[in-house]
Amino acid sequence: MKKMRKMLRVLTISLAVSAAGCGQGFRAVGYVEPELRRYVEAFETEYGVLVQYSVVFEGLPGGLVGQCRRWKDGRRKVVIDREFYESAGHWAMHQLVFHELGHCSLGLGHNEGLNGDGYPVSTMYPYAFGGRYYGAHLSYYNDSLRDGRARDAAVQRIGCVKFMNEYD
Ligand SMILES: [Zn+2]
Repeated sequence: MKKMRKMLRVLTISLAVSAAGCGQGFRAVGYVEPELRRYVEAFETEYGVLVQYSVVFEGLPGGLVGQCRRWKDGRRKVVIDREFYESAGHWAMHQLVFHELGHCSLGLGHNEGLNGDGYPVSTMYPYAFGGRYYGAHLSYYNDSLRDGRARDAAVQRIGCVKFMNEYD
């Protein structure tokens, strides 16, 4: 596991270097907003995956703060509400980005369970909850995307995944 993480880190660095000539934010595949790169890279390191689609800001309607969009042909895109980003702290953004990438990269659904403290048992809780508690229990929440806490809930509603019927 350690070895894999190291390899991924090397790969991430080489991707960043090769992308440097294309302008800020461009990767081998997709564009990640500079402000969101730290979260995306933390996710890649944590789960040993490469996020090969765009993670961008947009104004989302109806109180939505994030969305994983999937197309029939397999293309994906994560959209983060810009207004939410501007008011959110570090841990709120961490949880939101990990949640959306949990949908788009790990194929996870929602888990609405709460623990004895009244906090979500999984990062895949359907509402943004990142804050001090999330930050203080980060390794627990990171594991929640790796084990049954999120995966068992894959059949539940997946409100922040939008399935795109049309190709753009
Ligand atoms: Zn969601």
